[in-house]
Amino acid sequence: NNYIIAIDGPSGSGKSTIANELSKKLEISYLNTGSMYRALTLYFLENNIKKDENINKSLLEKINIDIKNNKVYLNNKNVSLEIRDSFVTENVSWVSSIMAVREYLVKLQRKIASNKSIILDGRDIGTVVFPNAKYKFYLDASPEIRARRRFEQKEINKSIDEIKDDIIKRDYIDSHREISPLKKADDAYVIDSSNLSIEEVVSKIISYMDK
Ligand code: C5P
Repeated sequence: NNYIIAIDGPSGSGKSTIANELSKKLEISYLNTGSMYRALTLYFLENNIKKDENINKSLLEKINIDIKNNKVYLNNKNVSLEIRDSFVTENVSWVSSIMAVREYLVKLQRKIASNKSIILDGRDIGTVVFPNAKYKFYLDASPEIRARRRFEQKEINKSIDEIKDDIIKRDYIDSHREISPLKKADDAYVIDSSNLSIEEVVSKIISYMDK
């Protein structure tokens, strides 16, 4: 019997780390939906497509986004590293607030998730993409902790305080946009991971699922 696990929460709350561990443990697939918004953002930046342009279905359908073995391909090129660039991070929020972008990616996410058991992480999985998901989790952590985790990943050449400011700004935009804002689903199980290890969060999730 196939089932969906939805994991939502703000940036740096540990969603992707937890989802990865969980997918190994349960031996089911994992889709990081943020990486899809990032790949589209990279495309827009590379092709100089601006906010005020008419970003519509026919433009989007020329863009091919593929995810295989947790690697992200943009028009058949592996862009897994580029999409983590701070230039992409700084621009992803405006791209993800465009209606046509969300329609395009949500459709793709549902297609990828069909006929299998899968974990999806993002901002709107439990509310919009799969409101009937069997399991829904909302991961949170204090801004200080989230900034420190990002800092320790050493992907970004910024101070903890700068990273914290970025995170707060992005969460504000993500949770205040008109379409599919970051929001806890009413029936999601909330886990504050501020003072928990990865293993502790994963075992909380598993024991919740076993109930
Ligand atoms: O998860 P990550 O931080 O990589 O997501 C990057 C951005 O993509 C978020 O800040 C948000 O703007 C957008 N996003 C979204 N809906 C999702 C996943 C990500 O709007 N389901």
